[in-house]
Amino acid sequence: MTSTNVADAGALAGTGIRIDGLAKTFHTGRGRTVEALSDTHLHTDQGSFLSLLGPSGCGKSTILRILADLEQPTSGEVRVDGKTPAQLRRDHDLGIAFQDHALLPWRSVLANIRLPFEVAGRTPDRDYIDELIGLVGLRGFEKAKPAQLSGGMRQRVSIARALSLKPSVLLLDEPFGALDDMTRQNLNLELLRIWTEKPATTLMVTHGISEAIFLSDRVAVMSPRPGRITEVIEVDLPRPRLPEMQRTPEFHALVDHASDLLFTGDGRAAAES
Ligand code: ADP
Ligand code: MG
Repeated sequence: MTSTNVADAGALAGTGIRIDGLAKTFHTGRGRTVEALSDTHLHTDQGSFLSLLGPSGCGKSTILRILADLEQPTSGEVRVDGKTPAQLRRDHDLGIAFQDHALLPWRSVLANIRLPFEVAGRTPDRDYIDELIGLVGLRGFEKAKPAQLSGGMRQRVSIARALSLKPSVLLLDEPFGALDDMTRQNLNLELLRIWTEKPATTLMVTHGISEAIFLSDRVAVMSPRPGRITEVIEVDLPRPRLPEMQRTPEFHALVDHASDLLFTGDGRAAAES
């Protein structure tokens, strides 16, 4: 297990996610402000999988929303594969799956997955959509409406939709947060399989320490608000990752280390607001 100095991690690579000196202060009216992020640095390589762990309210979603061009930074630089969030959005290079899956309830599974093509003004790639439906295990449910599906199936529709334009960047904000452990574990394995087949530069926010270690090349642990990156843990477990790896001493050592950072280090969960 090795840890990198956060300022150096991936500094040699000009691609991937590059967040430098990012700060975000929200103005909440009557002169009140919330400092969500302060001097956040995070670098990751193109095509790698990075998870963000941190106490509730430390600014994880804010980072993703800034990358997705849904919020503007107060200061600092954000680039993904050399592009600004606005460019990424314009080029439809971004796949997003957030916890509130935001499927259109009146549309079928197929029509929800096809939506990004319509938004981008592109002709739907029927073969690829069909392949994605198979990949997320929803064959036979193409015509179903979201209300007819289980929570886990709806999340899989969200993920298929996020992947439909073959984005080079995938942002996942607690995509399986509201699900039970069994479903989560299964979806993690599916996500891993999908990601292995279609590698994208991925940033996933999660509360699950084990799942972060299991899926990721790097796990960034954040401090309470205003969020900063406390440490970036390099997960040097081999790929392909297999479920039984979660029982190895190496895996447990990584999980323990991340837990220590979260619960006893700067990222003290007791400070959760
Ligand atoms: P996390 O995802 O780590 O739980 P968030 O990024 O959602 O945290 O939020 C970080 C902090 O910024 C929290 O204190 C939250 O209340 C605040 N915040 C987030 N979005 C807004 C907003 N639009 N207006 C005001 N405060 C916000
Ligand atoms: Mg959040």
